[in-house]
Amino acid sequence: MKIGIVGAGLGGLLAGALLSKENEVVIYEKLPIVGGRFTNIGYKGYQLTTGALHMIPHGANGYLAQLLKKAGCNIYIENSNPDGLFRINKKNHTYKNIFNLVGLKDKIKGLKMAANLKIGNVDKNISFGEFLEDIPLALDIGNSFTGWALSLNAYDTPMEEILKIAQNYYKFGGPGIPIGGCKGVIDELVRVIKNNNGKIITNYNVKRIEIDDNKGYINPEENEEEFDIIISNLSPKLTENLSNMKIIKEKVPIPSKGIKVSIGCREKLIEHNGVLFTPESERINGLNCPSNVDKNLAKEGYNLIMVHATQIKDNVKNEIDRVLSDIDNLFGENNIKDYEILHIQSYRDEIPVNHASNGTDLNPVVNNRFYLVGDGVKGKGGIEVEGVALSVLNAIEYINK
Ligand code: FAD
Repeated sequence: MKIGIVGAGLGGLLAGALLSKENEVVIYEKLPIVGGRFTNIGYKGYQLTTGALHMIPHGANGYLAQLLKKAGCNIYIENSNPDGLFRINKKNHTYKNIFNLVGLKDKIKGLKMAANLKIGNVDKNISFGEFLEDIPLALDIGNSFTGWALSLNAYDTPMEEILKIAQNYYKFGGPGIPIGGCKGVIDELVRVIKNNNGKIITNYNVKRIEIDDNKGYINPEENEEEFDIIISNLSPKLTENLSNMKIIKEKVPIPSKGIKVSIGCREKLIEHNGVLFTPESERINGLNCPSNVDKNLAKEGYNLIMVHATQIKDNVKNEIDRVLSDIDNLFGENNIKDYEILHIQSYRDEIPVNHASNGTDLNPVVNNRFYLVGDGVKGKGGIEVEGVALSVLNAIEYINK
């Protein structure tokens, strides 16, 4: 089959690497670089990113890692250990230890909540915030988790998604960091696609996608190629605007917004290779230090720290000021004065954290000739790039039917 893919983000490249083994694949990318929101930007000796925090939510065993392996990519992903620590009362605590920070009554309630979450004995129709709100500290911790992992407030996160995320966590484990960061993954996907004789055309802006009963066309006015299948890696909204197909029907995807700050620092604010959740900060949800896994991600002798916050209010400048003030407090508590803010990025509208926040994703299948992949069509419980991988898995399953 001849397959045309619109967009060379992680979703488009992953689909391309898997499908180019047995099909003729052509990928069209608007920008001069590939990888979309999952690649590196070299700056002052650091490997910053176009989006992601160099983290793969279920590490070396999750959906993405499995599909990368299936595609033939050689990538080493180091699993985080511990997955996460929690900054409470100016100290870093393990997950188990946080139960000792509350009174006996809340401790019993909290342990019961954790057990119910593990066995799935929870009302699926409430939000995660409603599930946690009986214990204020649990709600703060929940908010820092959903803010970091989904760029959502706990009250905007459906319990059904959390239950599936918990199931995946118990099955695959927590996050990991690939050597080379995001670009380490993207470079391997490109290598595999090229080895399979797939084509990647950059600087190619797709303005129109036409699907008829027999074929699919990309920019039909200038491009004579005919495709048996077309896969769009663009948002459902943009895909609908560019194509002759109705994509958004009864369910409307709601993007998730966020702010990211990259920091260079000689001292070690974070010793471990997982996430430091910050439930007591006003805005920031957590931070990590990817250079603890791959020192080449930072300037020699320095650390790269990445901070993430859900964007709560519309005034971006105010939100950034609050994020910077949280950062100031956190470094101050640790007596670190010498750090450099390398990059501040805000994500919303057509470049959000996710094109569909968890629970608002669409189905990846438009019809038997037209599919979507990416973070607007994540599979259920798919955190970020794990959801992108699930979208690819779901689309390919239909294509191969
Ligand atoms: P994209 O990466 O957006 O790819 C779409 C591609 O299509 C782009 O290359 C774009 O240039 C191209 N394109 C657009 N329009 C056209 C056109 N008209 N013609 C041709 N090409 C076009 N996920 C994680 O798992 N771990 C993290 O640590 C993490 N942290 C994040 C932090 C932030 C601040 C952000 C913003 C995101 C984060 N994510 C994280 C989410 C993750 O980065 C995204 O979910 C993922 O990269 C989305 O991939 P995609 O392929 O769906 O889309």
